Amino acid sequence: MPLRPLVLLPNPLLKTVSVPVAQIDDEVRRLATDMLETMYDALGIGLAAIQIGIARRMIVLDVSREEDKREPRVLINPEIVWQSEERRVYEEGCLSIPDYSEDVERPDMVRVRYLTLDGQVEELEADGLLSTCLQHEIDHLNGILFIDHLSRLKRDRVMTKFTKAARRKGTA
Ligand SMILES: [Zn+2]
Repeated sequence: MPLRPLVLLPNPLLKTVSVPVAQIDDEVRRLATDMLETMYDALGIGLAAIQIGIARRMIVLDVSREEDKREPRVLINPEIVWQSEERRVYEEGCLSIPDYSEDVERPDMVRVRYLTLDGQVEELEADGLLSTCLQHEIDHLNGILFIDHLSRLKRDRVMTKFTKAARRKGTA
């Protein structure tokens, strides 16, 4: 299965609000496989379709962190249906913002409703790393990056750094 190139900051595609997947067909199943391959290859724990330039509401994750015990998850049209009042801080990174991480505060627990690749409606209640990862990836579907949760000063600093780097490489 082909690896897909990652969309990197400051590419405006990352600001896109993705559209729901209307039908789970072979193309969607292929896309899910490619997304997982691309995520594993980049040593990520989550990936949204828009990060490979596809504006559809699909995310993949695997927070197991053990290569011999992979737990791939594919969530189609995921939505947060409940979140805890308690919040926690976790250091986040993003495959679209390489070599940068920062503490982000989010709800501690979430319940997410989504479609499986078989078209079944399922719910997943998560805390810890899985909860953070779900919220981070669902944000991507709404054009929101983890740096959007930081102070304007920090966000501007990151944007400037990546914009300059892209200009040097001639990609922006
Ligand atoms: Zn991300």
